Amino acid sequence: MAQKPLKKYHARRDFAITSEPKGKQRKKSKKPLFVIQHHIASHDHYDFRLEIDGVLVSWAVPKGPSLDPDQKRLAMPTEDHPYEYARFEGIIPKGEYGAGTVMVWDIGTYDNIRSKSMQASYKEGKIEVDLHGKKLHGGYVLIHMKDRKEWLLKKIDDEFADARRNIITSEPKSALTGRTMEEITEGKKKSTKSKR
Ligand code: MN
Repeated sequence: MAQKPLKKYHARRDFAITSEPKGKQRKKSKKPLFVIQHHIASHDHYDFRLEIDGVLVSWAVPKGPSLDPDQKRLAMPTEDHPYEYARFEGIIPKGEYGAGTVMVWDIGTYDNIRSKSMQASYKEGKIEVDLHGKKLHGGYVLIHMKDRKEWLLKKIDDEFADARRNIITSEPKSALTGRTMEEITEGKKKSTKSKR
């Protein structure tokens, strides 16, 4: 979380070229949003975003989330994104920052399960949330590694934990439109193959 949350986001993009939303910091929501966007750019990764203070605080997770509480996933902090970004799905043009394809892989709301505020949790480097997504449910923890830039994302061992299921491969399509990454890249409006 930055002091001026969207400064870096705006500086990195030319909104005359990219169709990503410009957005601005909004009022705090009663039910804060979370989103995970599958983003194939120079690297294939999943952007994990939590609405805190009217912006989407973000981490890039190369391998994506796991349902297995024994799997720690590297989460690199990235710039805060505007709230409106949560529903962005499409193509970022060549030459633009993050050029490639973006899919809304999962979206929903979350509850803070710690007794302190999300801001205080972020500063401390330990966030615990209960996700209510279309794919992900239950507790997840984000831990900032000591003296490093990286955080770790891990499933909390609860009724939704499942060490045998790889949700990245079993649920690859958009939670918003049912499209595959290929269909989004081709610019199809709706999925033709999807039954979701
Ligand atoms: Mn990304």
